Amino acid sequence: MALGERAFRADQLSRHYFARYTDSPEDMTDLPAGVRTALAGELLPRLLTSEREQACDNGGTRKMLWRLHDGALVESVLMKYPDRVTMCVSSQAGCGMGCPFCATGQAGLTRNLSTAEIVAQVVAGERILQADNPGGSPTSTRSSHGGARPPIPPRRVSNIVFMGMGEPLANYKSVLGAVRRFSDPVPSGLGISQRSLTVSTVGLVPAIRRLTEEKLTVRLAVSLHAPDDEARDELVPVNRRWKVAEVLDAAWDYAAATGRRISIEYALIRDINDQPWRADLLGQLLAGHLAHVNLIPLNPTPGSKWTASRPGVQEEFVRRIADHGVAVTVRDTRGREIDGACGQLAATVTGRSVGPARRPGTHLLPLA
Ligand code: SAH
Ligand code: SF4
Repeated sequence: MALGERAFRADQLSRHYFARYTDSPEDMTDLPAGVRTALAGELLPRLLTSEREQACDNGGTRKMLWRLHDGALVESVLMKYPDRVTMCVSSQAGCGMGCPFCATGQAGLTRNLSTAEIVAQVVAGERILQADNPGGSPTSTRSSHGGARPPIPPRRVSNIVFMGMGEPLANYKSVLGAVRRFSDPVPSGLGISQRSLTVSTVGLVPAIRRLTEEKLTVRLAVSLHAPDDEARDELVPVNRRWKVAEVLDAAWDYAAATGRRISIEYALIRDINDQPWRADLLGQLLAGHLAHVNLIPLNPTPGSKWTASRPGVQEEFVRRIADHGVAVTVRDTRGREIDGACGQLAATVTGRSVGPARRPGTHLLPLA
């Protein structure tokens, strides 16, 4: 096929993929029948094969397990809310960072995902939303609020969090590529605002600094889990390389460059990192900075010796952080009844305000 025609056809395929979320040749009726299959096979190879799907919250939360071309498995989760739809994506098959409380970390790293494999997870989510709203136009508003009227559920993915399997900043190039595909306007991308994308990192300082230089407006979440190096060295082994102070310095520089509040992720683990003095220390470290604490009741992995904090302890932890004038929420732990979302974690990004997320015990189900 001539180069000019290839470029023209590639643009048509890109419209099918990013605006209509299809990679099936039979749906591409604007392409000559003779070339449909060959072209789609060449330019849109099947990247993800559904291995398993689970739903809960009345279909509001859907967890998908995908098999990649080489047999590697990854998960993504679609979470519907009245005013938004959040997709949690994996950036790696497995993870090499070895955090002992995390199911993905225990399995080690299989491999990095390509940009296309990351993007395909969201396109698959868009396809599901389309199937759920057969009458809805795929190009309808991403999220809509109507004054006093109840919010209209968006028919498209409105938020994306890199909180599935893997450490996004350890797969920098592919993740950046995915950020661009998510945020570029149709037909070169999905047209989702960068402000609605969250990159969550364990604290790879040079990569945070590199991200700062990109001049993007994506939200940065830092998985801190402890305010002191002694506990963090154990909970987040990469802390032996980059200490709490260095990680927070890099985070504040990111906040200064982007004007965006840093999300500090903190999995509360009974008697490990939930002591009142640690709440005070965390409050002191964050006070006066552009930060918000997201407490996550630990979702114990099978066989784990650790469990979530007692509700009273969690409440005191929240209160002490808030007493330092630092914003703090406890995450709504969606999808725990479907073996946890994202390999280890079922949660929303914004969380609910202060208070335990659920009745004690409901977040203690084993993970997949
Ligand atoms: N690797 C990145 C992003 C994926 S993990 C990171 O660590 O930030 C997404 C979030 O889930 C992180 O904040 C991580 O610490 C948290 N997490 C992992 N395992 C968990 C568990 N068992 N219970 C609660 N949160 C967990
Ligand atoms: Fe990797 Fe994040 Fe799990 Fe740590 S918490 S092992 S960085 S996925």
